[in-house]
Amino acid sequence: MSESDVWFVNRQVGPRNSMLDKLEILWKKLGLKKAIKKDARVFIKTHFGAYGNLMYMRPALLRKIVDLVKQEGGMPILAESAGLGYGSGLYGGRTTAAEYFRMAAANGYTIGTMGAPIVLLDGYWGTDTFDVVIRGKHVKKVEVGMALRDADVIIVFTHFKGHGGTGMGGTLKNLGIGCVGKFSKTMMHGPQNPIVNAEECKGAECSKCVDVCPTRCITVDPKVEIDFSRCIHCIHCVSVCRSQADSNAITASWGGDPMGSTERMIENALGVVDGVGRDRFYYFNVALDISQTCDCAPFGPMALTPDLGIFASRDPVAIDSASIDMLNEAQPITVSACGDIEPGEDKLAITTPWPDPHTGEKTPTQCHLRQIEYAEELGIGSKKYKVRSADKRKPT
Ligand code: SF4
Ligand code: SF4
Repeated sequence: MSESDVWFVNRQVGPRNSMLDKLEILWKKLGLKKAIKKDARVFIKTHFGAYGNLMYMRPALLRKIVDLVKQEGGMPILAESAGLGYGSGLYGGRTTAAEYFRMAAANGYTIGTMGAPIVLLDGYWGTDTFDVVIRGKHVKKVEVGMALRDADVIIVFTHFKGHGGTGMGGTLKNLGIGCVGKFSKTMMHGPQNPIVNAEECKGAECSKCVDVCPTRCITVDPKVEIDFSRCIHCIHCVSVCRSQADSNAITASWGGDPMGSTERMIENALGVVDGVGRDRFYYFNVALDISQTCDCAPFGPMALTPDLGIFASRDPVAIDSASIDMLNEAQPITVSACGDIEPGEDKLAITTPWPDPHTGEKTPTQCHLRQIEYAEELGIGSKKYKVRSADKRKPT
């Protein structure tokens, strides 16, 4: 595939040249000024972080995007999708719209602070989706967040960082996990979930799983049983059984097949861009506060390198490819998980290692590189890119 343009602004700032000013330069370079017509419904797909994680996307960046959409005459809508698994602790949950909006408010995202409505693309439970049929190696049907059907323009605004399961949380993950419903999220992790171990069940007096099952397909009489003909594989029961009932009566087989999970996520991404329409998508990677874990972790390890800047592109593969390469070239922060490595070494491979299923020995992940390779193989975009600086002024 041919080389794609990736616009970039660095982290050097000065008076009248803040990161918000630079975001506006990227906005113009990407063609959003022309793309947004009067009254266009512009969805801004992001992630509100988890409570306790201080490395998530800064609300002021989103507020700037909202204001730019309004400036062009469009109608901004801030969008996310329901997370997997009930949270625990104060503001911990991201499972339902009610849980997630409460958590988002604690992290600074409200209709008041953003100046725009906030929606979950896949509805209250994460089950409001439409089907896209694909011919993937693993995935045949992707359940895409229904609200995306209403979008004239979709700005995928992603915090670039590592990810424990797939090596990298970038634009491709924001598409392949962030834009799909609960069923496709779960299937990405492991198609055989949930797993019932009835002998471990604490019985009807517990029944915590029954209370959170959206399709009410669980009975506990005298031990847990699931009517799998009605199960939507949302994993709510797994989450509460472990975190609230302190039991392993319902479990999930996550984590045994990281490369398979990575490929399923990329196949989901294909379903999203093809099901919604590729011409509607515009991509940003915010490469600030880059740690090795996802923003959904309720903590945030220190950054692996100094902040890089912000990338923008029409190509979801090129933008992630460029972000990985620039991260690898950056000077590591040696007291971070990078340790004492040289610039040029693969930071995500080293800091998101996977345990061998047989020996338990951890080896550097290759999943982030597989995201890029497989996405190109599926024709989602090009891993070849040309970084074009949008910085006008010399660093101060
Ligand atoms: S939450 Fe777990 S232990 Fe409690 S009833 Fe359900 S399956 Fe049994
Ligand atoms: S039984 Fe199925 S539908 Fe019900 S909570 Fe568990 S995974 Fe979700």
